[in-house]
Amino acid sequence: MKHYDYIILGAGASGLQLAYYMAMDDFYNEKSILIIDKSKKNKNDRTWCFWETGQGDFDNIVYKTWDTAFIGSSYYNRALHMQPYVYKMIRGIDFYNYILGILNTRKNITLVQEEILSYNDNGNIVTVNTASKTYEADRAFNSLFNMESILTQKKFPVLQQHFIGWYVKTETAVFNPERVTFMDFSVPQKGNTRFMYVLPISPTEALIEYTLFSEHLLPNKEYEEAIEAYLKRIGIGTGTFKILEKERGSIPMTCYDFQKADSKNLIHIGTAGGWTKASTGFTFKNTNEKIKKLIQRIKKEEDFSKLGKKNRFWYYDLLLLDVLYKRNDLGAYIFPSLFKRNRTQMIFKFLEEKTTPSQEIKILFSVTHWEFIKAFLRRIFKQSVS
Ligand SMILES: Cc1cc2nc3c(=O)[nH]c(=O)nc-3n(C[C@H](O)[C@H](O)[C@H](O)COP(=O)(O)OP(=O)(O)OC[C@H]3O[C@@H](n4cnc5c(N)ncnc54)[C@H](O)[C@@H]3O)c2cc1C
Repeated sequence: MKHYDYIILGAGASGLQLAYYMAMDDFYNEKSILIIDKSKKNKNDRTWCFWETGQGDFDNIVYKTWDTAFIGSSYYNRALHMQPYVYKMIRGIDFYNYILGILNTRKNITLVQEEILSYNDNGNIVTVNTASKTYEADRAFNSLFNMESILTQKKFPVLQQHFIGWYVKTETAVFNPERVTFMDFSVPQKGNTRFMYVLPISPTEALIEYTLFSEHLLPNKEYEEAIEAYLKRIGIGTGTFKILEKERGSIPMTCYDFQKADSKNLIHIGTAGGWTKASTGFTFKNTNEKIKKLIQRIKKEEDFSKLGKKNRFWYYDLLLLDVLYKRNDLGAYIFPSLFKRNRTQMIFKFLEEKTTPSQEIKILFSVTHWEFIKAFLRRIFKQSVS
């Protein structure tokens, strides 16, 4: 059995970012690092978007950027100017190829393609079992996520950001490639928070995702029929477009304490570590910020627990999720109201958890609804969902 300094379980967004920053830092040159993933990571299985000011570490693989966005609902439509923020898009395949290309040149980093069946931290070392081998390390970083693990508890509501997206090519020019659609609530809500998310690449190409923030997934047919209906509404009938790619996702939205699963030598990262922003599902940028802190902490042998420390933003997210869990139809009111009554830049700052308490009070008051007060009182008097 070979012993490593570190094992990274999963070569997705968080596992590869961790390996990338380790590869870029001389401290880790002498460390042996093993990355295990069951997949070859050779498919464009997802598209990551995030907002950022200035230059980012992955700008060389950014596929498209926008500095104007649209948010719409039955009572409010607005083009949002985001400067100095830029909304950036990275294709999964470009990210995998770029990082794996770097890792493959490093002698101290080993990548294996195997399915992980189990893992254990005995307090001294971590062992990881695949069908054919057992690996061990001083420390391990785990990005394997199992939705079931959070669905069985009742203390925190669990919504999912779930969607199917079609990357389409149309015969005629219909998209405005200068403007991304964050949330278009003009689609029938059917008692949920449902919206279209549109990433236009050119006048004839866009990724269109029918998205819900709700408790239960839909049959595939329902997402796809909604995308078709949306295309029809903008003048793109059946037979006048091609679907070049499809993507689907289900991202957990919850304030559940993911760090409960951590032990002395086994730390959870990415979605499995609770690095998904509970109120939005955004994970990529947050993961980037956490990983940069994590690699400094590993170096200094510091405590990891502060990485996921609860702060006041955790409570804001909790209240929003409590409200949407009870009144899932309210999303079409809450999200447009946030953008209607506040500067776009301030909302981004708030979602990045970089606002001051006085700025947050103003934002919270802009979406005042009786349901928030009820949710607040429920949390004070009874710490559970039901
Ligand atoms: C389609 C899609 C689009 C998204 N878009 C955005 C976005 O625009 N912006 C944003 O911020 N977030 C987005 N997210 C959310 C989040 O950023 C991604 O899910 C991100 O990939 C999470 O990173 P991760 O490392 O936690 O998990 P993953 O990237 O899923 O990595 C986990 C890895 O573990 C491997 N694995 C799992 N089980 C095993 C096993 N038993 N043995 C071995 N390997 C295993 C998987 O193959 C995978 O490579 C999106 C998610 C999806 C699904």
